[in-house]
Amino acid sequence: MNYNPYVNVQNVMEEARKTGGIDRRFFDVIKHPQRETKVYLPVEMDDGEVRVFEGWRVQHSNIRGPFKGGIRFHQDCDLDEIRALSVWMSLKCAVVDIPFGGAKGGVRVNPSELSRRELERLTRRYTFAIEPLIGPDKDIPAPDVNTDAQTMAWVLDTYSMLNGRPCPGVVTGKPVELRGSRGRASATGKGVVISTKLILARSGLKLPDVSVTIQGFGNVGRYAAKAFHEQGAKVVAVSDISGVLYDADGLDIPSISEFAKTKAPLSTFNDGHAEHLSVGDIFAVPCDVFVPAALENQIDETTAAVLKCSYVIEAANGPTTEAGDRILAERGIQLVPDIFANSGGVIVSYFEWVQNIQELTWERDRVTDMLDDIMSRAFGEVLEEMARSSCSLRIAAYIVALKKLVYAEEIKGIFP
Ligand code: GLU
Repeated sequence: MNYNPYVNVQNVMEEARKTGGIDRRFFDVIKHPQRETKVYLPVEMDDGEVRVFEGWRVQHSNIRGPFKGGIRFHQDCDLDEIRALSVWMSLKCAVVDIPFGGAKGGVRVNPSELSRRELERLTRRYTFAIEPLIGPDKDIPAPDVNTDAQTMAWVLDTYSMLNGRPCPGVVTGKPVELRGSRGRASATGKGVVISTKLILARSGLKLPDVSVTIQGFGNVGRYAAKAFHEQGAKVVAVSDISGVLYDADGLDIPSISEFAKTKAPLSTFNDGHAEHLSVGDIFAVPCDVFVPAALENQIDETTAAVLKCSYVIEAANGPTTEAGDRILAERGIQLVPDIFANSGGVIVSYFEWVQNIQELTWERDRVTDMLDDIMSRAFGEVLEEMARSSCSLRIAAYIVALKKLVYAEEIKGIFP
């Protein structure tokens, strides 16, 4: 069965609405995106052929601030996935209380099959297609799965060309040389580690007390592994689509990170210590903390039953299905939900945007300290809601976010 992430997020929102006693009237506004745009993108390939790619930009809500959210390139992208991701962005920005709404963009493409020049042409054509929708005070894209600072540099340049002036605030997660923020690339990974520290502290534990498994070694997984390793946690397994590296005594994360920079598959890494397992084995690795940092729907009824961990920290968006959630709860596995656990990226995107607007550049330590402050305060609010509503952390985070969104809708009223 194909599990639909948009149905997932709608169901969880509905459960949170009931649990949190949120009025149905304005909640229905938040259930649906404000605007969904589909684009067709003709691109001239290096061999002279023309291919037409499908893309989307879904703008869920701008009630709390400009639409905000990444752009992903993936062969399985579809409208319902982008819709779900746009809703999660609105919830994420609301739960940590930064002044953005939510949006998401995507192009259905397997970027590993395109040359760098082809990817640049595709990115510029996509930017041209959504140009009327985006802007520093309208909708601000950022990196997501298979996109990075280079992709943002192309978006920024195309948008600035079309507008006849430099517009650094139109994207976040851009290179520091183009007024990106220090600490943005590592921010989601760092936020995942902050989330882990916050949940462990409730049981009197610290990072050096735990072992960690990370599924996915992209923008998020790689930096999370680095931050876990630097702060004394033992990273025992990491994986990408090619396979799993495992060492019960702890992997050599600096070497693996260096190796992964070349984009070589982890299955070809060999340092004489790390054991190779097949991709699906990642779920059965014994550890304290399991970090899904890949795609949606990874922890379902089957994989939730085999996990050998005490905590799940959702670094990816939507990695757990509703059935997976139920099984984790039955097994007493504590979960920090995506809309909080991976919010570090968009929080530092917010800092980047603020620096761009004010024509300022902040030091890395300032960025890191402010990230820690925002997440710690928001976690406190979610814990209070959890106690008040006797619910899971996920439902508590949704209630905190939905209350802000629904209340904003209510006091604004419905136009016209
Ligand atoms: N793509 C990231 C996310 O899903 C970051 C979005 C942003 O910085 O706007 O949260």
